[in-house]
Amino acid sequence: MSASLATVSYIGATILFILSLGGLSHPETSRRGNLYGMIGMTIAVLATIFGPRVSAAGIPWIVGSMVAGGSIGIFAARKVQMTQMPELVALMHSLVGLAACLVGFANYIDPSAAANLTSAEKAIHEVEIYVGILIGAVTFSGSIIAFGKLSGMIGGKPLLLPARHWLNLAGLLVVIYFGGAFLHAESVSAGMTPLIVMTVIALLFGIHMVMAIGGADMPVVVSMLNSYSGWAAAATGFMLNNDLLIVIGALVGSSGAILSYIMCRAMNRNFISVIAGGFGTGGGAPAAPSSGAQPVGEAVPVNAIETAELLREAKNVIIVPGYGMAVAQAQHTVYEITELLREKGVNVRFGIHPVAGRMPGHMNVLLAEARVPYDIVLEMDELNQDFPDTDVAMVIGANDIVNPAAQDDPNSPIAGMPVLEVWKAKTSIVMKRSMASGYAGVDNPLFYKENNRMLFGDAKKMLEEVFVALKS
Ligand code: NDP
Repeated sequence: MSASLATVSYIGATILFILSLGGLSHPETSRRGNLYGMIGMTIAVLATIFGPRVSAAGIPWIVGSMVAGGSIGIFAARKVQMTQMPELVALMHSLVGLAACLVGFANYIDPSAAANLTSAEKAIHEVEIYVGILIGAVTFSGSIIAFGKLSGMIGGKPLLLPARHWLNLAGLLVVIYFGGAFLHAESVSAGMTPLIVMTVIALLFGIHMVMAIGGADMPVVVSMLNSYSGWAAAATGFMLNNDLLIVIGALVGSSGAILSYIMCRAMNRNFISVIAGGFGTGGGAPAAPSSGAQPVGEAVPVNAIETAELLREAKNVIIVPGYGMAVAQAQHTVYEITELLREKGVNVRFGIHPVAGRMPGHMNVLLAEARVPYDIVLEMDELNQDFPDTDVAMVIGANDIVNPAAQDDPNSPIAGMPVLEVWKAKTSIVMKRSMASGYAGVDNPLFYKENNRMLFGDAKKMLEEVFVALKS
């Protein structure tokens, strides 16, 4: 393939990636967005393999690696449970970071990469390598810790080392100092020591940064690492002189940054304090599972038949799904109940909190999979004011996102986070298995409110019972 055809293909792929991002911004167009992305990626890969920069001798290596990597990808995608998606995404981000590190080291060692460069060009090339490995290492180790936290292997509580900000500052100064030493190194072997020291510090920083972030801030971390993985890809593009990788990396990096901003807004947090870590710890100790005021009152249990009766009598119903719906895989039963109620003339809508579940858009994906019509799936801001006119608010496996303590208790670790005000409905019904707290480890006073009922059990099983009772 000629150089000009490769360039045209890269431009075509870039346009498809932009259309893909545009398509992914709405559930109705997201399938099309995915398709554009797949076509764009196929063109990008083919144009790279058959482009002028890969020799015929290199093609079998690339094809071999693609078969190996592709097989692992297909295996992982087929095997992963819907509830493990967030962990898988975190793991994928870590691979982008690892790739940036490996490309950086390979580029530095490769004698041909810096041959024929003027001293200014060589300095720029080395800055690209240094910064690329730095971002890659932070992304790699941070994403591994995020994977651990999302999968529950590592606890959600923030790990707050004494003088952690000073530690981070010291790390930054050492990285800058060794950056100077790296640029002034006479030979590749002399430059290796500062490069390795910086990589180790960056890896430790990534671990420290994510370990210090409290459970409730994890949505921001997930989107932030998404953004970092984009910048790591862009850095790889600079190292490899690949314009497409730079553009795509910048697209992912900036869209991840916008998502982080949206997540911060959804949680009423500012980005710097999320990165500083320790959400809701009052500037020191880690959040205790039940910090904040202890709820008072008694939780009133109901059974499936009573729940069906409440729903049958309702005119307006709002369903609030959360992480438990994903665990129970209850979305299909939710859809069946929704259809049945709609046939009976009940106005059923869904209220989606931006951080519901364990990854951005988690609930939308599940509801779309169950074929729930998009026009009845609304964002929190679009229907929060409607709860006072709602007969039944049905909370399915959600907890933190419907916790009134966020509004009422200034000492709560989630104080200030906007929540769905389900307690303002005539009756709210919370479906979960026990009185346990949610991801943020905070008690929920909603359970004890006079107009609240608890339907205990696995969400899918209970909803199936409700469905049978509704039909009879
Ligand atoms: P929560 O984690 O607050 O609550 C989920 C509830 O579901 C639990 O209290 C649990 O209670 C219940 N549950 C679990 N399994 C089942 C089941 N099989 N059947 C019925 N109920 C079940 O989830 P929310 O969606 O309300 O809130 C999301 C939380 O996750 C927020 O704190 C958010 O910050 C955080 N987060 C969000 C991310 C994102 O990007 N969206 C990323 C990382 C974290 P029980 O055990 O009693 O059944």
